[in-house]
Amino acid sequence: MIRSGRHYLDALDDGREIWLDGERVKDVTTHPAFRATAASLAGLYDLAHDPAHRPVLGADGVHRAFVVPRTHADLVARRQAYKVWAEASYGFLGRTPDYMASGAAGFAALPRLFTTDTFDGADNVLAFHRRLAENDLYCAFTITNPRSGTGADDLLVKAVEERDGGIVVRGAKTIGSGAVFADEVLVGTIEPLAPHDVDHALCFSLPIDTPGLRLVSRTSYEGRARGVFDNPLSSRFDENDAMLICDDVFVPWERVLTYRNVESTAAMWWGTPAYLNFVHQAATRFWTKLEFLTGLAILLTRSNGTYELPAVTQSVGRLLGMVAQAKAFVLAAEASYEQVDGGCGGVAPGTEISWAQRIMAGEIYPRAVQEIKGLAGGAVIQLPASGEDLLHPELGPLVARYLKAPGSTAKDRVKLLKLAWDALGSEFASRHEQYERFYHGAPHVYLSMQTTAGGADACERLARACFDGYDLTDGGTGTTGGGADGGGKAAGAGPAGAGHAFAADGARP
Ligand SMILES: Cc1cc2nc3c(=O)[nH]c(=O)nc-3n(C[C@H](O)[C@H](O)[C@H](O)COP(=O)(O)OP(=O)(O)OC[C@H]3O[C@@H](n4cnc5c(N)ncnc54)[C@H](O)[C@@H]3O)c2cc1C
Repeated sequence: MIRSGRHYLDALDDGREIWLDGERVKDVTTHPAFRATAASLAGLYDLAHDPAHRPVLGADGVHRAFVVPRTHADLVARRQAYKVWAEASYGFLGRTPDYMASGAAGFAALPRLFTTDTFDGADNVLAFHRRLAENDLYCAFTITNPRSGTGADDLLVKAVEERDGGIVVRGAKTIGSGAVFADEVLVGTIEPLAPHDVDHALCFSLPIDTPGLRLVSRTSYEGRARGVFDNPLSSRFDENDAMLICDDVFVPWERVLTYRNVESTAAMWWGTPAYLNFVHQAATRFWTKLEFLTGLAILLTRSNGTYELPAVTQSVGRLLGMVAQAKAFVLAAEASYEQVDGGCGGVAPGTEISWAQRIMAGEIYPRAVQEIKGLAGGAVIQLPASGEDLLHPELGPLVARYLKAPGSTAKDRVKLLKLAWDALGSEFASRHEQYERFYHGAPHVYLSMQTTAGGADACERLARACFDGYDLTDGGTGTTGGGADGGGKAAGAGPAGAGHAFAADGARP
């Protein structure tokens, strides 16, 4: 089944326990802090019924992200589906339902990793994937512990009791993006656990309305927004982040995926294609977001009358270069696809490129934002507090007179500048910068991981070929091959091995 937006919204009114500003939220579909974003998410489901998008978003009667990819063409088709949804929020909804759908497809590609000597979760993980796919469910996930470092054991989710039908869990997780809008939440751990820490090595998925499961929302940017004209992004695409508290929550065994097993609790992310699928979705959204921001820079500089200035053109060129980088990572991850080892014939985006995308994205997003802020100048600050000033019978004409720009009415100029500030400088924008830097983990983790992603050997081999290709007794300065052809090429200029052969040819007695 592929759900409609209405079907999705109706399911959210289920008595879930969500807290905001000391208030228990009755219904996220009507509450002013959540309702417009819920409607935006519903709009994504409706897109799947739009004849223009149905063939891209759907496959075999389910959303395409649930389907286990088996060929390069399947990966391309998934990306096309990701892109349709990403463009609907201009890249600002990160944890749309296709995110965890792609993770579930990754688990289902290698269920045997869930079979261990402490617990057999293989059937449960297949049932999890099937349940999400067949009911087109939106699953959020909380796999980050509340505090890194030591001394936090009593805060982390663990089973405090085993019963016949399941376990009782207690503890907290942070940060659940999109959780308040989801049907289910998957609770697990992605950070490395000590080998003996079996108490915290578990993963399960529950409906959001499960008794004892509480979500404590951060400040709602949607709730603070004046309206779409004044806050066009934060008023509609505030996906929310919430702390998850499990207050003695009962989890039936059939919803447990890993239990008291450190290896499988980690391997579900790193041994299956789940994480690589996540990055594929996220990289497509990131590319889309950079396209949007760069387009905004072009609109801004045209409106400022600076677009033709050489320095501004170069700045836009730099942004377009970032867009191309973001796109290249998606295409290269697909092109370098890998067979899922010992799985069911699935493929996954290439590990080396996918992991490196995290480094690239975390580094270039803040640079892109700074670049555009530099182009925007002070105009984004000196704006009427709200559109009300433009509508006021006495003030409106004055504002219209002094805020208009060549080729643009005051209303359009204010509208554009407010859009820019919402994207670049608001609290919502600041959250997005933090998101792009951290949602895939902290840099100290993914930078170290990159050394194990497969690229290091080729780099070392090439440098080694150069290094081994000459010696102190080779004569000259030792910095060029020199030799019989007198070409004077650098020894390492060619491919691995070539430099070595060249230096050997040119070696002097
Ligand atoms: C907007 C946003 C949305 C998110 N959404 C989700 C979500 O939906 N689900 C989810 O599970 N998680 C989510 N996360 C959490 C995210 O996965 C974590 O923020 C990330 O894994 C980093 O963990 P941490 O925040 O505990 O940072 P820490 O691990 O505490 O690291 C923070 C900083 O401390 C320093 N540091 C800490 N330890 C070391 C070390 N050993 N060596 C060197 N430096 C160190 C570094 O400077 C590092 O950048 C989200 C995060 C953000 C910001």
